[in-house]
Amino acid sequence: MIINVDLHIHSHFSGATSTSMTIETLAREAPRKGIDVVATGDCLHSEWQREIKQCERIDEGTFLLGETRFILTTEVEDKNRVHHLLLFPSFSSVDDFKERITKFSSNIETDGRPNVSLNGEQIAEFAKDVDALIGPAHAFTPWTAMYAYHDSLSSCYGDLTRYISFLELGLSADSNYGDRISELHRLTFLTNSDAHSPYPVRLAREFNRMSVKEATYREIKNAILRKNGNSVTLNVGLPPQEGKYNESACISCFRHYTLDEAVKRRWRCICGGRIKKGVRDRVNELADLPVPKHPEYRPPYLHIIPLAEIIAKALGQNSTFTKKVTKRWTELVDAFGSEVNILLDADIEEISKVTVPAVTEAIKAFREGKVIIHPGGGGRYGTIELPNEEERDTVRDKQKTLSDFLKT
Ligand SMILES: [Zn+2]
Ligand SMILES: [Zn+2]
Repeated sequence: MIINVDLHIHSHFSGATSTSMTIETLAREAPRKGIDVVATGDCLHSEWQREIKQCERIDEGTFLLGETRFILTTEVEDKNRVHHLLLFPSFSSVDDFKERITKFSSNIETDGRPNVSLNGEQIAEFAKDVDALIGPAHAFTPWTAMYAYHDSLSSCYGDLTRYISFLELGLSADSNYGDRISELHRLTFLTNSDAHSPYPVRLAREFNRMSVKEATYREIKNAILRKNGNSVTLNVGLPPQEGKYNESACISCFRHYTLDEAVKRRWRCICGGRIKKGVRDRVNELADLPVPKHPEYRPPYLHIIPLAEIIAKALGQNSTFTKKVTKRWTELVDAFGSEVNILLDADIEEISKVTVPAVTEAIKAFREGKVIIHPGGGGRYGTIELPNEEERDTVRDKQKTLSDFLKT
């Protein structure tokens, strides 16, 4: 079977998260985005564990509420400020891991994403002890990420490097970025939302499509390890330019700089603020290949823009959180079942019967690859612009739809 999976979110017990990041809300919102399995996130946190345990147990590592399944995951920050994503086979594995790291963490009971005074290799060693999967989270972002502080996997994970099976690309990168670095060719790439709130512009803004026998932890693990015929068949995510750290830019005034300019200015903006190196420039530094070379098993990467963002632009709204945007988003999702379906597959004629012409036009422009993206940087997301009428008529490279990917 084919499932859509988002493997990185945070509960309301992590810092800077929405109070509505509860199991109930996640279980309700995931299907509306088209997602079958969501990571619990924060699974080391005792109170969050209690919420997870309210779900029905499918097997020791898979839980169900409504139509949404959950598997046990967490993110931890190591002593070098690198974030790691961990996936556990069961609560007993979670407990074993927690027992090992508790003495190295002062906030494990208070923060859903604990800080651990160990390095990547030590954390990976403990993960291996308890049979958990581990890999770098949002690997290229200029802070709290592996490539922000290391130049290679082995610099981060030492003797445990071979145990690393996946890498999370993060919002500002895609497979074309990752596959310019040869050491990553053996890793499965994951595309996850890292959502801190359940809003449709956040949850499942990136996700993985997998071919599995059942929607369970074990089967998802096999997909990541590419075992027993299971695999990730599609990575779905934002165009990298939409990410907060795509280009090098000032973290105070968000002015963008080329790498040369930034180096010349010693990473100081003309406003006096600090320039943060963008993911694009960082990948250029790290890359040993001038163009991406995809290993034979690498799935296609499908770029999507959250529907609420497209609707907001179509309606001339400055925010995706207004009542008008929510109303149009809801009526479409009610009619077509899930956001993924509307963005990629539903018949445009049918869409036009449900919503206003401006929204139909905007969805069409997205499908035809005509939405213009102004890159993000310095901690500010990229923005989108809809083409004017003339531009709408010129034909650009049309991205395949999800159904095209299914057919191939
Ligand atoms: Zn993180
Ligand atoms: Zn500045």
